[in-house]
Amino acid sequence: MDAPQQDHDFLQRAVDLAQQNVEKGGQPFGAVLVRDSTVLADGVNDVHIDCDPTAHAEIQALRHAGHTHGTPKFDGTTMYASGKPCAMCMSAMIMAGGQPRCLRCG
Ligand SMILES: [Zn+2]
Repeated sequence: MDAPQQDHDFLQRAVDLAQQNVEKGGQPFGAVLVRDSTVLADGVNDVHIDCDPTAHAEIQALRHAGHTHGTPKFDGTTMYASGKPCAMCMSAMIMAGGQPRCLRCG
């Protein structure tokens, strides 16, 4: 699979997660953390479910990845997000060593 097709597929997965989250009563945001074409973790906006203003989809994906892989560092990763990440999520992704890709940020 070529890189543009992979980008499309991971972005579509983030959008699908966002749509599924809306169906469960959540906000329309999903994110997928990928390294070397492998999904490390994903997340959706859980702000209202967790009563946590920091529970954005990208942050949740990083939290899930950290718990699953036992590290806070994710150098060489790409975060595919259904929407343009906010400043908090951008900072978290930079601190984790990854880079964002989203529908609106190229
Ligand atoms: Zn955010």
